[in-house]
Amino acid sequence: MIKSGKTKNFFLLFLLCSGLFLAIGIFEINPAQVQNQNTYHIALEGSTWNRTILRILLTTPNHASWWNPSYLNDTLRAIGQWNEAIQYFASNFTGYAFLSIVKFEPSVSSQIQPGFNIYLNWTENELGNTEDIGGLTTTTEQGNVVINCSINLATHSQVGIPFFDSDMQNIALHELGHTLGILCTNNTGEIMTPLYSPPSSAKLISTLDVYGVASAFSWITSFNSFYPVNKWLPSQPVILPSNIPYEFLPVSHQNAQPQTLANNSYAENIVFWVEFLTYTGILPILILVISILIFVALYPKKKKKKVRLTP
Ligand SMILES: [Zn+2]
Repeated sequence: MIKSGKTKNFFLLFLLCSGLFLAIGIFEINPAQVQNQNTYHIALEGSTWNRTILRILLTTPNHASWWNPSYLNDTLRAIGQWNEAIQYFASNFTGYAFLSIVKFEPSVSSQIQPGFNIYLNWTENELGNTEDIGGLTTTTEQGNVVINCSINLATHSQVGIPFFDSDMQNIALHELGHTLGILCTNNTGEIMTPLYSPPSSAKLISTLDVYGVASAFSWITSFNSFYPVNKWLPSQPVILPSNIPYEFLPVSHQNAQPQTLANNSYAENIVFWVEFLTYTGILPILILVISILIFVALYPKKKKKKVRLTP
């Protein structure tokens, strides 16, 4: 039997390619979600607003070299997504119609202006030693009543990679959740999980998130007993009552994240690693090593010339 050199080279290439795809597969980071509402809980901030319309000013750094205007649209979609989730919850679950008057009212400006409840701005770099990757919410409060909030959103990861639109919207959803009075949840598939691994596909707001918001705004039905807040605002994490199923709330086409490559779990990992390797300067070295391997695999081996000796 004769093994052809071509078959052998194809075999080597096949091994090389499957090795690469296996390596990419290892970085798959979206675990299958198991839903069990009895084990999920969400902690509350311990403070609440004494108003239901939250005016939010988004200040855009229009002239900054690192600024990408699509981050504004991502954040506005996150605000719209929260408003829709709250409305859906108020009209679909008995006893929570009071929530329908809670909403964000966004305005956009290139300059800070007075008179808003929440101020949101962007910075290029990550925000230091916080539990959040890329986002930070600071709350000013008095006697457990929120006076105002400021949200800082980073546009680039720690290694300098610009966030995808999906990451910006997901991180904005998380920070806006803090301004509504919810802290964090023990469910890793949630928007309010404290750790976030970019890139990640579109996240949805759950009934647990909005139930947490409803707990912080339950004063709406009995404003006379608003003070002192710590008398009625739960200090322990809350769990869903049995009549509310744990589910993700629908989002309209207008506020849904655009279906880009980054929203496909496999593509998002491939794109991330190509960007990561490019930014860190590893990509050229990797391409060189792979080229050498392919060259070695395909290079035709010189056959030894047989010298016929004359008798
Ligand atoms: Zn957080």
